[in-house]
Amino acid sequence: MKKTNIFVIGGGASGILAAIVAKRNGAEVTVIERNSRIGKKILVTGNGRCNYTNALSSVSDYNNQEFVEYGLKAFSPENTMSFFNDLGIVPKVENEGKAYPLSEQASSIIDVFLYELNRLHIEVVSDAYVINIIKRNQNFQIFLKDGRSFDCDKVILATGGKALATTGSDGSGYELAKKLGHKIVEPFPALVKLKLESPHLKHLQGIKMPAIVELIHNNEVLQKEEGDILFGNYGISGPTILQISRLANELYIKGEQVYIKIILVSSMTKQEVYNRFFMSKDKPVDFSLVGMINKRYISAIIKEAKIEKQNTLVRDLTDKQLNKLVSLLFDWRFLVTGTKGFSDAQVTAGGISVSEINSETMESKKVPGFYITGEVMDIDGRCGGYNLQWAWSSGYLAGMNASN
Ligand SMILES: Cc1cc2nc3c(=O)[nH]c(=O)nc-3n(C[C@H](O)[C@H](O)[C@H](O)COP(=O)(O)OP(=O)(O)OC[C@H]3O[C@@H](n4cnc5c(N)ncnc54)[C@H](O)[C@@H]3O)c2cc1C
Repeated sequence: MKKTNIFVIGGGASGILAAIVAKRNGAEVTVIERNSRIGKKILVTGNGRCNYTNALSSVSDYNNQEFVEYGLKAFSPENTMSFFNDLGIVPKVENEGKAYPLSEQASSIIDVFLYELNRLHIEVVSDAYVINIIKRNQNFQIFLKDGRSFDCDKVILATGGKALATTGSDGSGYELAKKLGHKIVEPFPALVKLKLESPHLKHLQGIKMPAIVELIHNNEVLQKEEGDILFGNYGISGPTILQISRLANELYIKGEQVYIKIILVSSMTKQEVYNRFFMSKDKPVDFSLVGMINKRYISAIIKEAKIEKQNTLVRDLTDKQLNKLVSLLFDWRFLVTGTKGFSDAQVTAGGISVSEINSETMESKKVPGFYITGEVMDIDGRCGGYNLQWAWSSGYLAGMNASN
């Protein structure tokens, strides 16, 4: 019997896994990659350590929760660790379930992928930019920018989103899917640094420290995260901010006013803070804050409390100034004025609408034989190994089903 001839477009995380699974399942598989090498984005994941899954992943870590449920069960974080373990990757599970290769090198993932692609004789056509896919009767024809074309039985689209386009994912997958009749949910950057409005950013720039951060909209707390924050001259970043950035940006794009609230003092009550100021009433206000908050916040927070001189004695502060200063320690708000954009984002929210994809097979409901994997579809997860887990889960389903 003739083997099914599958072309995978995109040699990134989901495409490589789909190719391996399909080939092991008996198909003839070719990967088409626009770069000269596969997996360029994988190399930069997890700060070069590749947080390749999260042992605690659940549907609540993703946007379209009903859609991801089947895939996360069919190829779970446990399956991911076992799949990579068989290829040679010893898992190292750290805090909050984040899993890395024990080697702490993202390049290990590429190395074992290359070995397996080679062992299975999967052809990788590199420096090959796909510009069109046409369905003809039961077959597909794939066209490259350099004029070459290929015929195949089935196509797996694994071109990624728009985040960090220098790794290859430039959003061209959306155009390819659109031409085949698919709907695109407007993409926007997620897991991204936030721009803030504040006259103090110059002072705050470079401060890195743990804090509790809340996302505020209409005076309501929409999301709360705890961990490191890092101020820059544009605004703020750090793991807590990345987690909050998706919802913050979604609302910002809709024209809503959203604020980042920073809680600098969380282990004391307001009364305890007032008592400390009372004890320090003969000291300059800037000195009274030393030992309570990071020294580099002091001058900015005093200015924000509308206290003109940093060395004003605490006892000379007006009630209004003191109350404002205390309240800022518990609730310092910054208006969100955008993000650093796709070039700085770790993931793309939006993409090919999942309403047109079968969640159990990853096959298009519009174009039989056309499968979709990974970030190119309207699925994104939190920061912490969840996005790669979706790449593996969806890649597995597409590889298995396209080759059946
Ligand atoms: C800085 C950074 C750090 C990250 N860290 C983590 C992490 O630690 N853990 C985690 O879970 N996730 C992380 N992510 C997210 C994760 O890397 C992605 O979600 C995942 O790689 C998506 O896989 P994919 O297969 O859909 O797309 P990609 O991995 O982006 O692969 C798409 C491939 O398709 C190719 N391609 C695109 N268009 C065409 C075309 N027209 N023709 C031919 N080839 C094409 C591209 O060159 C690319 O190789 C990180 C992302 C970034 C940017």
